[in-house]
Amino acid sequence: MELPVAEPGPVRSEGLLLQCPYCDSEAMHKLAQLLLPGLAAVCIDCTTGDLFRKPSVVAVDMRKEMVDYVTQRSETFISDSLIESEASQDEEKEMPEDPFEVVSIFMDDFSSTKRNIIGHVSGWLMSDSREDKIDDFVQEMEMTRFWPLERREAIAEVLLKNVDLKTKYHCPEKYENEQRLADHKAQCSFRPVTCPNDGCRAKVSVRCMTDHDSACLFKILTCEQSCEKRLMRRDMDRHCVTVCPMRPMKCPFGCDSSFPERNLEQHCSEFLQPHLLKVLKAIHKKGFTDEGFKDHALLLEKQDIDGKLGKSREVRSLTNVVKNLEAKMKNGGSS
Ligand SMILES: [Zn+2]
Ligand SMILES: [Zn+2]
Ligand SMILES: [Zn+2]
Ligand SMILES: [Zn+2]
Repeated sequence: MELPVAEPGPVRSEGLLLQCPYCDSEAMHKLAQLLLPGLAAVCIDCTTGDLFRKPSVVAVDMRKEMVDYVTQRSETFISDSLIESEASQDEEKEMPEDPFEVVSIFMDDFSSTKRNIIGHVSGWLMSDSREDKIDDFVQEMEMTRFWPLERREAIAEVLLKNVDLKTKYHCPEKYENEQRLADHKAQCSFRPVTCPNDGCRAKVSVRCMTDHDSACLFKILTCEQSCEKRLMRRDMDRHCVTVCPMRPMKCPFGCDSSFPERNLEQHCSEFLQPHLLKVLKAIHKKGFTDEGFKDHALLLEKQDIDGKLGKSREVRSLTNVVKNLEAKMKNGGSS
């Protein structure tokens, strides 16, 4: 029979050991991100339908109450889950192991104690307008920096360490003296380092650096459309649709083909004939037969000593060149 995987020992009885303080930066960040919509939901649910109280008015109090509640729940989480797993065989009531789910449950529990009468109506809880109001309030709080990310991360760090029973997201190492702890910290895979990409100020756990780097907005990359330009990830999308010479474009004369923008010149000289026919048909409507149009086009090309036809990049300039050439021909331009 296999032994069950050991829980990470009863932390509190090891009070004499010094615990490594580092935790997973990305997890901390993710948890910190949960807190804002969590708070927004509480503020919306307890003021909905209330003409005299706005979410922003209750936000300060609710933030304090929510942080206190969630922190307190996280502190007793280990002992609670031990008691629960001994007392009940009821699989369904078991708390999840994932720290993000655990904290979400804490926040939902808190939120449900704050709902007013309308907030308790299930239709309201499932409604889109509730979601919209929460989103709007999250944005408002972000804009006013009501609860900055750094402050949320500090709380997230505490929560994470308390509820991460499997020590997946924080360092489990403990040492008997400062020196050994310091030696470990210099090597710890959870230790935070500053992202080396120019302009990025993120502090990231060593073990998360690869993930961070593959999403870091300040990372220098070569153009996704292979124009050979090197630029920051955050500028890539704009570059690719605005100035990149490789951005795909449609033929301005209405050919079916599309091609990289920098090949426009080449396309215009290669496809001069079909472009010219389109323009001529627009100018002269049914003035020629199909063959007549082709002959006229050839004639124009012969008259075009400076090669202006091939240099036109769009319908209007080609039309002008054609009209000038025709005028010249009319006035005996061959002389
Ligand atoms: Zn460590
Ligand atoms: Zn970075
Ligand atoms: Zn490019
Ligand atoms: Zn074309």
